[in-house]
Amino acid sequence: MVAVCKKNHIRIIPQINLLGHQSWANSTGKLLKVYPEFDETPHVKMPEKYVWPNADGLYCKSYCPLHPGVHPIVFDLVDEICDAFEADAFHAGMDEVFYIGDDKCPRCSEQN
Ligand SMILES: [Zn+2]
Repeated sequence: MVAVCKKNHIRIIPQINLLGHQSWANSTGKLLKVYPEFDETPHVKMPEKYVWPNADGLYCKSYCPLHPGVHPIVFDLVDEICDAFEADAFHAGMDEVFYIGDDKCPRCSEQN
């Protein structure tokens, strides 16, 4: 893919959804599956059947940006994908962050 894009003067800008979009509908994303401790709202359980609107306001989950373990993992992923695609730019997502600074998060609640 990298060679074909270079040949055709296409700039690859890889993306990893950061902060938000850590789940979709009734499916948890890979980061929170492997590291459930990064979940900003672990009290919000993934439904078997997703419907909108719902009582939890669950659109998609977020990771806790204040968890001390999250950025070393996420930044390694960013480095890896940028290296793999020989990219000089990166798309960080950062949209649709519905859960941030949750009152029940032991780290974020102190920031409110
Ligand atoms: Zn938090």
